[in-house]
Amino acid sequence: MTARGRLFVVSGPSGSGKSSIISQVLSETDVEFSVSATTRLPRPGEVDGRHYHFMDRDEFKRMIEEGALLEWAEYNNHLYGTPAAPIERANGEGRDVLLDIEIQGARQVKQNRPDSIMVFVTPPSMEELERRLRNRGDTSDADIEDRLEIAAGQLAVADELCDHILVNDDFSEAVDELLDLITGPA
Ligand code: 5GP
Repeated sequence: MTARGRLFVVSGPSGSGKSSIISQVLSETDVEFSVSATTRLPRPGEVDGRHYHFMDRDEFKRMIEEGALLEWAEYNNHLYGTPAAPIERANGEGRDVLLDIEIQGARQVKQNRPDSIMVFVTPPSMEELERRLRNRGDTSDADIEDRLEIAAGQLAVADELCDHILVNDDFSEAVDELLDLITGPA
């Protein structure tokens, strides 16, 4: 596979299986993962600098003021943003980069980088999404309610924004679809 300095933006509600699909794809290709900045606290097992750059609001706001973020959004009372410099560097050197971000941010990336490839991962149904969020066990009831509401809004805009919709009812098929986009012919 040859990398071509492309920007893949993968979006989709929390519980859609997006993160697992992305982890699998990252292990099978040399596409680089863009490590986001966030003000939320690390979950067990998450490593600073690898899963996220964890920081407080002041530090995050400084990044916004310095124009260091390609996009940023508030999601579920926390700030999330994509540092621009590592992407410019990687893409400039012909390496592909993949972003795992929510839909408001994806919209901003599309504006700033119209050449980016927008992918939306969706669960088969809202019922299935709720079931997955509850099974995860690391999310409170109130958080689940918030995330379900956000998901409904996201689904509504995904159709017009995204180039590819992956319905995740079968994990390996969804992984293969994303792999095809990255490694297949242009
Ligand atoms: P979580 O807190 O579950 O890791 O992520 C919550 C949501 O924030 C996910 O939908 C994830 O894709 C999104 N997210 C992660 N990093 C970024 C980012 O840099 N920018 C934006 N806009 N969303 C992000």
